Amino acid sequence: MDNIFSSLMERLAERQICPYYAENRAEAVSTVLSIIEKSRMEKGVDCKDIQISSGGSRTLAEIDIFSSLEKYNVLNAYVSKDPKEQYEAKRRALLSDVFLMSANAICESGEIVNIDGNGNRLGALIYGPDKVIIVVGKNKLVKDKTEAMARIKSIACVKNAQRLSRRTPCAEKGKCESCLIPSQTICGHTVYTRYSAIPNRIHVVLVNEELGF
Ligand code: SF4
Repeated sequence: MDNIFSSLMERLAERQICPYYAENRAEAVSTVLSIIEKSRMEKGVDCKDIQISSGGSRTLAEIDIFSSLEKYNVLNAYVSKDPKEQYEAKRRALLSDVFLMSANAICESGEIVNIDGNGNRLGALIYGPDKVIIVVGKNKLVKDKTEAMARIKSIACVKNAQRLSRRTPCAEKGKCESCLIPSQTICGHTVYTRYSAIPNRIHVVLVNEELGF
């Protein structure tokens, strides 16, 4: 394991955030499954009694985690195209047993940086689900918050806005102009996670591969 990972794992642990290292996406999947299974055993319930939900994430799709979750009760808030149904599913996801997501960036200090449009992903990160599991590829490791914001605005937001066919300056010109365009801007909430007040709640799986954006 590179020093960059071992040092980051120490910084995360200081923040009461449980760190894990995975050499590749296959190891990332088995690590996520072991965290879920440990949580299930602590609760003493059947797999179908564990509700798992997630935030929208290219990383989770790339590691194909959902094909390994069939025995659990998976709430996919994105399956319905009806905005009202999707809204209600995202609200229910806030009380899941396990919430899966990626992060936009992680600083050397262990601080986690994210920007959300609606805030359902970051609402779940902050409070609600019993366990939050964050899977992060090495491309999202940055020096500090300044580099994190630069990365998010110039890479993550650009690609996300394009993926969602948004008519924003970042999608159209590749440059953030701090837009406030109704139904278009994808930057609603910026969250810096510096400490988990509840121990053993937030788990970060660092993957030695490039994943997502
Ligand atoms: S504020 Fe607007 S232009 Fe800037 S990154 Fe967000 S969506 Fe794009």
